[in-house]
Amino acid sequence: MKIKRSSFTEEKQIVRSELTCKSLELNEEGLQDPVRVEAKIARTGSCLTVECSIKIKTHFNCDRCLDEYDSEISTIAEFVITSDHHMVADTDDMVFVSAHEDEVDISPNIREAIILALPYKRLCKEGCKGLCASCGKNLNEGSCDCKTEITDPIWERLKEIK
Ligand SMILES: [Zn+2]
Ligand SMILES: [Zn+2]
Repeated sequence: MKIKRSSFTEEKQIVRSELTCKSLELNEEGLQDPVRVEAKIARTGSCLTVECSIKIKTHFNCDRCLDEYDSEISTIAEFVITSDHHMVADTDDMVFVSAHEDEVDISPNIREAIILALPYKRLCKEGCKGLCASCGKNLNEGSCDCKTEITDPIWERLKEIK
């Protein structure tokens, strides 16, 4: 997603864009096109402040019950575009562009925000019961007839040795 610096004023402007995962180099499975971006951009002095709200639909398999489920990732990317190297760059939120360049590609910032927002654990729902370890039944659909015994891994290993 490219923006032209010269086209923004101190008044906040909203730029909406629909991007593809491919254009953002997002190879993660389960991410669904389009990536919807709404960027609020305004000039402050020699800088541009950019606030992007990003939405992307996902189609993942639950880590516990393995069922497919649809969800949405909603995240933000906020950063400042500047040509002034004297500005303190103590965070990633600063994008330096040479002064004679008008066009800025903000895709890397959008990509990073999505990667940071990817769920660490993919669950179809809070408290998914998962699959029975012995019969494989999806316990969200009801309990199975297996005896629920708490297996101690050490004890299991001893049984194998016998
Ligand atoms: Zn699940
Ligand atoms: Zn079972």
